[in-house]
Amino acid sequence: MARKTERYTVVTGASSGIGYETARAFAARGKNLIVAARRRHNLEALKSEILARYPTLDVVIKASDLSVTENVYRLYTDLKGYALETWINNAGFGHYGSAAHQDLHKIGAMLRLNVEAPTLFSSLFVSDYKDVEGTQLINISSAGGYTLVPGAVAYCATKFFVSAFTEGLARELKETGARMRAKVFAPAATQTEFGKVANDAAEYDYDKAFGTYHTSRQAAEFLLELYDSDKTVGAVDRETFEFTLHDPLLSYAGSSKHNQKTAAEADGQREEKSRCSRRE
Ligand code: NAP
Repeated sequence: MARKTERYTVVTGASSGIGYETARAFAARGKNLIVAARRRHNLEALKSEILARYPTLDVVIKASDLSVTENVYRLYTDLKGYALETWINNAGFGHYGSAAHQDLHKIGAMLRLNVEAPTLFSSLFVSDYKDVEGTQLINISSAGGYTLVPGAVAYCATKFFVSAFTEGLARELKETGARMRAKVFAPAATQTEFGKVANDAAEYDYDKAFGTYHTSRQAAEFLLELYDSDKTVGAVDRETFEFTLHDPLLSYAGSSKHNQKTAAEADGQREEKSRCSRRE
């Protein structure tokens, strides 16, 4: 049963890696959790681990394949009885390989999980909660969501989308006086199951493949730093592995005179023109 008076943090992709550690980190902050991914067994293990340390918390498990569009809508509808505070779109996977030879079935699922699901969840969450004080949306991009990485073109493109969508949303929320804040977390190489999935490999050695990387626990600590800050982007530099907080990084046409005008602005401009021509 939803504890109607209490607030919840949603973490998608909480069955391993960054999502698992992020859920643990939010539990340590006393947050009730709703955790989603396909592997129910892993979510059960996470729940047991959290409740052993913090028995008063509520941890709700939602086992779902979020690369299926209907499941995204179903999960959001299922959560209507809960008061949500923070939504973390973390579920995602990558693919290494030439764009000319990729498994299109895998790429299709990646587009739906990395792009469609966070876009739908973000829009639904913003629509319902944007005026609620203290609410946050955190979308997981990547260092590859700001820099193209060779051999990972389609994956990077999905993460460029996440960076652009979330930065744009963050600006819109601020400009319209909403209470919710939207933020982008962009980790670099992190030791998780990502390497195995991206390379379709049974085993993956981060020491051999990268040499330098963060642990998923370190990534969760960075994410919490972003959560606590008033900045929009928390990014790991893929060369130095330093984590820093930023205002939006992408170029923005906020004050351009070439933006589409609203009907009211267009009417105002027409009146101004006709006033000028009457004066002449
Ligand atoms: P991970 O250990 O493979 O975790 C991925 C999570 O996403 C798992 O919980 C997985 O759960 C979930 N997931 C995958 N497919 C799903 C589906 N169809 N439906 C629902 N959930 C699904 O990898 P990770 O590194 O922690 O990845 C977390 C996020 O960080 C991803 O968005 C990734 O792109 C991003 N990231 C990772 C790195 C890195 O180097 N590791 C760097 C930059 C960004 P199930 O398999 O149980 O469904």
